[in-house]
Amino acid sequence: MGELLNQEIKYLKGVGPKRAQLLGKELNIHTLEDLVYYFPYKYVDRTKFYRIKEVHGNLPYIQIRGQITGFRLSGGGRAKRLIASFADETGAIELIWFKGLSWIQKSLKTGQEYVVFGKPTLFSNKVNLIHPEIEDAGKLEEMHYSALQAFYNTTEKLKNNYITSRVIHKLQANLLQLIDGKIAETLPAYLIDELNLLPLEESLVNIHFPQNTKLLKRSQSRLKFEELFYIQLNLLKQKNFRKATFQGHHFTKVGDYFNNFYYKNLSFELTNAQKRVLKEIRSDVGSGKQMNRLLQGDVGSGKTLVALMTMLIANDNQYQSCLMAPTEILAQQHFQTIARFLKGIDIRIALLTGSTKQAERNIIHEDLQSGALQLLIGTHALIEETVIFNNLGLVIIDEQHRFGVAQRAKLWKKNPQPPHVLIMTATPIPRTLALTLYGDLEVSVIDEMPPGRKPIKTVHYYDSKRLRLFGFLKEQIREGRQVYIVYPLIKESEKMDYKDLEDGYESIIRDFPPPKYAVSIVHGRMKSGEKEIAMNYFISGQTHIMVATTVIEVGVDIPNATVMVIESAERFGLSQLHQLRGRVGRGAAQSYCILMSSTKLTSEARKRIETMVNTNDGFEIAEMDLKLRGPGDLEGTQQSGIPFDLKIANLGQDGQILQYARDVADRILDKDPLLAEAKNQLLVKQIHKLTKRKFDWSAIS
Ligand code: ADP
Ligand code: MG
Repeated sequence: MGELLNQEIKYLKGVGPKRAQLLGKELNIHTLEDLVYYFPYKYVDRTKFYRIKEVHGNLPYIQIRGQITGFRLSGGGRAKRLIASFADETGAIELIWFKGLSWIQKSLKTGQEYVVFGKPTLFSNKVNLIHPEIEDAGKLEEMHYSALQAFYNTTEKLKNNYITSRVIHKLQANLLQLIDGKIAETLPAYLIDELNLLPLEESLVNIHFPQNTKLLKRSQSRLKFEELFYIQLNLLKQKNFRKATFQGHHFTKVGDYFNNFYYKNLSFELTNAQKRVLKEIRSDVGSGKQMNRLLQGDVGSGKTLVALMTMLIANDNQYQSCLMAPTEILAQQHFQTIARFLKGIDIRIALLTGSTKQAERNIIHEDLQSGALQLLIGTHALIEETVIFNNLGLVIIDEQHRFGVAQRAKLWKKNPQPPHVLIMTATPIPRTLALTLYGDLEVSVIDEMPPGRKPIKTVHYYDSKRLRLFGFLKEQIREGRQVYIVYPLIKESEKMDYKDLEDGYESIIRDFPPPKYAVSIVHGRMKSGEKEIAMNYFISGQTHIMVATTVIEVGVDIPNATVMVIESAERFGLSQLHQLRGRVGRGAAQSYCILMSSTKLTSEARKRIETMVNTNDGFEIAEMDLKLRGPGDLEGTQQSGIPFDLKIANLGQDGQILQYARDVADRILDKDPLLAEAKNQLLVKQIHKLTKRKFDWSAIS
């Protein structure tokens, strides 16, 4: 059976080479399995028929039974359209087509009984159906449409080639007929029994052709459960495997490096959250097992300090450590901060990035190998093969979501015995997402800000209030503060975005003219040297305003910057807005985040902006973000870095199923840690399949 599902889609009845190519390109459907796992995004009740006099422009999809009483053509050029009058005993309505006119007219007959299906719209003040589905009424009954009709996402290109949702639905019917009775179960029988799940085949049939709402719900639950279950089982199994296989470096003591720093150099009290997290880390690294811990904490919560203190413990136990940041500017900033913190403590640290000069690089390489260099900070340059440590005991990765899993693995291999790993992220992640992305890690959270911080005030201005905004900025600059002004940069509209940025920059220079004001600009099209110079002007306080694209998003720490203006805020995602806001509020002065937008806001954009205005809590924002982004939002998924595409489960809504799946996986591994028992072999096989898919995915992207 496995082989049948692996068959190429082009051999399926109704497909053929041309459609196969389109389906592959547009929807990533290559095999029969890909198709049957291409799930509908909604269902519409097809048991109900409307009468034409009941139809108005605000209805969702509706069905009407009636006859075509005549055709006419209207308009010309691109507006040319075919209009059919469609009538039942209560009235008439117009059906409109803009494409395939002659073919449609030829294939439809007047006086014949049809069922039309579509969404009513208002067009030139009349209610009508544009490009409705239309089916011979007699034939429709033969087709055994399920009461709930499935709808599938398609693309513009597919639609232009007549591969509509309905066509996909028909292909699903052909496919299910072909594989009827031949679908192998993918969950062990004992689990299906125990958990009272619907069998796979029944679930697949009902997900595409639900017999009733109850069966649809059960199919969805089964498929969601399975999807989340295998991810959790895989993660937990890996975790078990690591624990069983790897010894950890044993950091037995806290010594002079740590104590000198803590008692002499540290000028403030750690927050309770920092203390708690340090305790968690110390217990990991002292356990004899390898640490794999995720450290979550909002921007400015003091993660870097925790990282540094962990490195000092490594040092106290004669191990080297390294800290990897996603950008050169961040690596530099970490280096400077840490060097400042370590003043007077005898410890060798170095910075290694892409722009480190060869001569300096050579010295670093040598000293790393000899062990003279204890602490290395840098970018991706750290994972190059030429970088060899003497005895690497601890790896800290900042802003993990910018790094791939593969890069994480490379750092692991820098030592015969894998180092302890601490991953820091300032992107608060909702629990469901954390369990999915980092389910194999222990999690620590810094949920408390250092004392004395004033919460950032966030306001929303429409573009028309720009003069008032500029007045406010001038006031802040007069008080000696600095200002960020950020413009969106979205790949698809990159050209226009740069135009906006340049226009914005010019208008700011006009309103903030030199020599009284100095303005920096930083964006992705500048060479990294230029970027750095501009950035450093701002960091050192020589410029008042920094105009930038989102390149400044991560990590930069400039306590004197108190205002973050975000232009076209409606175009940013919630977590990105929150990240940007985190650039201010890092000093003692009151900070502000000003969201500029046009007055035309979608309801979602409005909700995002409202959320930002109402709360500073990163976790609350993350939860809302996940809720607002619907399932299958590819951009969102990529942003969050989920290394696999979820086909049916939705992390924003299926938290309960996820927790259940994780508990079940936990229970199974508890009894059979390496999944060695015969009854669990199907689980092993399915995990294998999942990890293979994961690999393929990363190879494409
Ligand atoms: P994060 O990396 O989590 O964004 P940082 O470690 O950069 O946060 O800390 C932000 C700022 O707060 C730094 O200037 C840091 O020195 C300071 N800081 C960290 N912990 C404390 C504390 N317990 N009390 C006061 N200031 C702190
Ligand atoms: Mg940081």
